[in-house]
Amino acid sequence: MEIKQLLRDNIRRLAPYSCARDEFKGEASVYLDANESPYNNGTNRYPDPLQAEVKALLAPIKKVRQSQIFLGNGSDEAIDLVYRIFCRPGIDNVVAPAPTYGMYQVCADINDIEYRAVPLTDGYQLDMPAMKAAIDQNTKAIWLCSPNNPTGNVFAKDDLLWFLDNVNAMVVVDEAYIDFSDKGTMVEMLDKYPNLIVLQTFSKAWGQAAIRLGIALASEEVIGYFNKVKYPYNVNILTQKHALKVLEDVAKKERNVAEILVQRDVLRDLLLSLSCVKEVYPSDANFLLCKVSDANVIYAYLQQKGIIVRNRNRVTLCANCLRITVGTPTENAEIYETLKEL
Ligand SMILES: *Cc1c(COP(=O)(O)O)cnc(C)c1O
Repeated sequence: MEIKQLLRDNIRRLAPYSCARDEFKGEASVYLDANESPYNNGTNRYPDPLQAEVKALLAPIKKVRQSQIFLGNGSDEAIDLVYRIFCRPGIDNVVAPAPTYGMYQVCADINDIEYRAVPLTDGYQLDMPAMKAAIDQNTKAIWLCSPNNPTGNVFAKDDLLWFLDNVNAMVVVDEAYIDFSDKGTMVEMLDKYPNLIVLQTFSKAWGQAAIRLGIALASEEVIGYFNKVKYPYNVNILTQKHALKVLEDVAKKERNVAEILVQRDVLRDLLLSLSCVKEVYPSDANFLLCKVSDANVIYAYLQQKGIIVRNRNRVTLCANCLRITVGTPTENAEIYETLKEL
């Protein structure tokens, strides 16, 4: 499969901006090339545009080569780049299941790309015949969020592989919640499939939503296109330095994930014991999708008690569903006690 054929013509032809940090790489004692302030204060110099130090720590953790990593201002930057690199405005389309993460559609709308939403099955799995029927010559990307937000489940691996084997488009598997799942990552498939992009993030299991650091893992060629199109200094130095600290303590992330997995079961049992909770769907993520007696009423009640959850009542296949993030033991007990009094 030729990735080059999927690129927009303007991107194939693009001569990227060459910044001062790209032209000179190495150690010198006098830097007069970038019109920076000479007064050292920790942030007076432009940061490394390709974040080599962060990637050096991240690559062995993700079991990829550094050249297979793109880092962006949240996963949202990577999502937007997929459109800007592969999709011709007003011509091309993308296919995604519904419900899923809202940013795929928002970025499609911003980039004037047709977004084809295909409802999941009743069991929240991919409706493969309908997905296949939605794909045509101008389909440039398939969005597959697994574990899926807001349903919480992983999609069947055979279905994900079907797209990789059969579709002449980029297949983006968003693994924002993969650390909370025991079903396995698609990262190990990268060397086999040049059209695979795996998205991960520092925002969930790593506990770093505020630093805005998203990860795209793909073939060296695809990462090259990401690097060509992104803003030159898309990840600031404060974020890069903070990420280095975070990556040095993988054990801490793993302890937190283990605690959340325990609490996910605790919270599920608590919720299921409440009469207003009709169903708690299986979750491979750090949240639970719950069907309740009346989502609007319960959402408003919780809000008035100072507890905020996500009301998904108006989302496809999620009538009367609330999405509840797994919190600390205290927080989980608090939502339970509050709902018990309803
Ligand atoms: C939370 C989330 C992300 C993370 O987005 P960031 O921009 O990296 O914070 C990505 N994808 C999905 C499906 C999410 O739910």
